Amino acid sequence: MIKLRPYHLFAVIRQIATGPTKEDEIFKGIPVVTQRILENPDEELELVECFDDACVDCIRHVPDGSGCVWGKDFSCQSALHLERAYKVGQDMERILRKLDVEWGAHMPAREFLFLAIEKYPARYAENPDGAYRKQYVAGMEKIKAMWK
Ligand code: SF4
Repeated sequence: MIKLRPYHLFAVIRQIATGPTKEDEIFKGIPVVTQRILENPDEELELVECFDDACVDCIRHVPDGSGCVWGKDFSCQSALHLERAYKVGQDMERILRKLDVEWGAHMPAREFLFLAIEKYPARYAENPDGAYRKQYVAGMEKIKAMWK
């Protein structure tokens, strides 16, 4: 079972288009999860609110006895500033609404990626010329070509 925070679904889709990027030196976990999905797209994937399988290898996932809002025993920069954590939380809730699923929803990874593409094709559209938008569009096309 792959555990992913909702917005990491979209990072995986972008990464399927780009392959490993410079950002992956920081977010090392996304390439690991992307590779796992490419090797076995039928593995179950579950949406979680806490640290996920992409966080495990991330250099921002640091041991911290106090824990943080994303989980115990570790902290992450995205959770240490309340305003940022609040925005990340809002984004995750927005994604759940867009996909019409709840926390703990699970299905084969391939189906989750198609659900994301079908229900939230406008992800990153607030900046249509931005790198994330272009990567996402390319990722959507690549996934459709690869698995349909
Ligand atoms: S540890 Fe934090 S920055 Fe790293 S992947 Fe997880 S949520 Fe993102």
